[in-house]
Amino acid sequence: MIRVGLTGGIGAGKSTVARTLTERGAYLIDADVIAREVVAPGSDGLAQLVETFGADILLPDGALDRAALAAKAFVDDEQRKKLNGITHPLVGARAAELLDAAPEDAIVLQDIPLLVENHTAPFFHLVVIVHADEGVRLARLTGQRGMPEDDARARIRSQASVEDRRAVADVWLDNSGTPDDLAAKAAALWDERLVPYERGVRTRACAPQPSAEVAYREQWPVDATRLTNRLRVLGGDKIADIKHVGRTSEVGAAALDVIELDVALAAGASAADLIDPLSDGGFPERSPGVHANADPGRAVTINLV
Ligand code: ADP
Repeated sequence: MIRVGLTGGIGAGKSTVARTLTERGAYLIDADVIAREVVAPGSDGLAQLVETFGADILLPDGALDRAALAAKAFVDDEQRKKLNGITHPLVGARAAELLDAAPEDAIVLQDIPLLVENHTAPFFHLVVIVHADEGVRLARLTGQRGMPEDDARARIRSQASVEDRRAVADVWLDNSGTPDDLAAKAAALWDERLVPYERGVRTRACAPQPSAEVAYREQWPVDATRLTNRLRVLGGDKIADIKHVGRTSEVGAAALDVIELDVALAAGASAADLIDPLSDGGFPERSPGVHANADPGRAVTINLV
């Protein structure tokens, strides 16, 4: 099983990508859908909201009046925290429940609008970002979705910057072309990367690594940082330190496109302690003390030292 985080700014094309991947077999966990579900009529979540914010957040038919809730909850930080304190744990619990129910060989797709803002990128096997420039998104939101322009602008502004998104993207899907172009990119991602990645994690098999040198890429240190963050989450307190080493760490040098990381074990930890967490997290053991990528799209060699 692998977990893929899908995100991007509002109007970027997440739903379009999610549709293509779900058609091909992804197991979708949609954060927006869950957020609505946990406060549906009759839910425990809605009862808690009424207790906290009053019965006038309900519509005559008993459903949540989102505008009325927003008017009460978004007045200050304290009210906002009260709201999040009710909804976030419920959303988390429901997502965990759905994840538990996923088949062993699932490619789980989690559509999370605020993945970058919430700093949860390292918790996924792979993060896919859908991107379209601000002007393009504005036109799509105000045109096809009929959102007022001021509203669309305000929402775009409140979200993560392009730089923040680039830093955590394993896959960058550009959606400046047609919807069909985007669907074709998503389908290729499924066939060429997600399916073999999932198989590699499940069978603990490393993907092939490149054998020809390429010119220096500015992306290498960015990739090294992203992988380091992921390894830290996987290894927790078993890891003392991680260093980007080898040719890709030398600015300007041609090298094999393989990120090399030295992972220093914490005192009292052994390489054996990391076999399961690293393998399940996307980096199977290749030889004693050395792990590598199951993801065919990003070669990495991890030396436990
Ligand atoms: P998100 O889920 O990221 O908010 P959507 O996938 O819903 O974005 O796309 C936003 C709007 O733009 C939708 O109305 C969608 O149909 C439209 N759209 C998405 N991709 C394209 C595209 N390449 N060309 C034209 N319209 C698009």
